[in-house]
Amino acid sequence: MDALLSWVLDNILAIVAVALTIVLVYHYLIERETVVKLSKRYRDSIFEAQSKIFLNATQYLISGNRDLAIREFLNAVDLNRETIDTYFALGGLFRSNGEIEKAISIHRSLIARDHISEATRLRSLKELAKDFDKGGFVDKAVETYKDVLKINRDQHDTIEALCLIYENIEDWEQAHSYRLMLSKVGQNNQSETISHILVQKAKVLFENGQFAKCQEELSEALRYAPSVSAKILWLRLSLMNGNMERAQNLLVELINEHPMYITYVFVSLEEGFHGDDKVKQDYQTRMKVLKRYFLDIKGLDISSSSVVLAKVRLFKEAGEEVEAYQLIKNWMADNPSSSKVLMVEYIKLLIDLKKNEEVVNHTKSLLDSLHQSHTRHYCEQCGYNSDDIFWRCPQCYEWETIKFRWKV
Ligand SMILES: [Zn+2]
Repeated sequence: MDALLSWVLDNILAIVAVALTIVLVYHYLIERETVVKLSKRYRDSIFEAQSKIFLNATQYLISGNRDLAIREFLNAVDLNRETIDTYFALGGLFRSNGEIEKAISIHRSLIARDHISEATRLRSLKELAKDFDKGGFVDKAVETYKDVLKINRDQHDTIEALCLIYENIEDWEQAHSYRLMLSKVGQNNQSETISHILVQKAKVLFENGQFAKCQEELSEALRYAPSVSAKILWLRLSLMNGNMERAQNLLVELINEHPMYITYVFVSLEEGFHGDDKVKQDYQTRMKVLKRYFLDIKGLDISSSSVVLAKVRLFKEAGEEVEAYQLIKNWMADNPSSSKVLMVEYIKLLIDLKKNEEVVNHTKSLLDSLHQSHTRHYCEQCGYNSDDIFWRCPQCYEWETIKFRWKV
């Protein structure tokens, strides 16, 4: 099967050549049978020219000169408009086969033709942009996609392609404006995605210490959709502004709505930003107050191991090993098949507290359950794996499909 596939790939041009000949012969026969305006002599001469082109191209193929073969095939476009589709097919085949330069040369020569319709020119331009995109020529792809939009603004797939490029290169300004454009031409609601993009913009502003501007973008994001990442950034901003009541409310909201993210919430509170020492100190102090608040919440519904893990880590950070031990021990009693990272935290605690006998028992059961190590995060949509946090999956481009599996 593999051998067949690789033979097909190696001989793709020859296969297309045969297909093209069949198309040419087919058109010849159709045209011959229908009463068209063309005289018989003219039709015969077309077929003659087409046959010559095919023969030339085949010769080039045999001698291994693919570029000349392509050029010969392209010459046939003038002779028969219906065959244009065949060239689009050939260009598409080259692109999907990774032969970007050949695809580019086909689409460029189509664009350069004098007597083609506007629709064909637009289509060739779109195909060319896709070639650049696939080949990783980002600037040229952007430029060409924009040329397409200059001819016709109502091109959903082109706008979407530009959105993806700008999101990939993290140009959130442009990503935002093209998403807005997409929401005007398309059927799908873009609110969630626009919200995410605005959060990314706001995050950059936060890191740069532009907190007022960050607040503006974030408010806009929340108007579109209250995503988890928006709420986490809002929490950070509330700490920054000294609005402790809102910070606490947001934390409780996150615990109730998205308990699996809580360990990450506390990790992300610690992330750095630009600002003078006083600002940083105030932030640190308020963060400590919030952590204390979290540890002291009574009657909290702890049904997620992420909440337990966050609490255990914060208890340890505060030097309260005994509280951490009590919490984790009770949790393990109710949830014997807990996550491995919790078991590791537990064993570390037992070592600190010198509970040697328990250390031995729990280490043994941990080792028994340990068969493989995973990446920390994965995409629930497409299964993409990564140790990094991704709010937008780099593989399927969906937002907030990340799932956490705690790595040992
Ligand atoms: Zn994905």
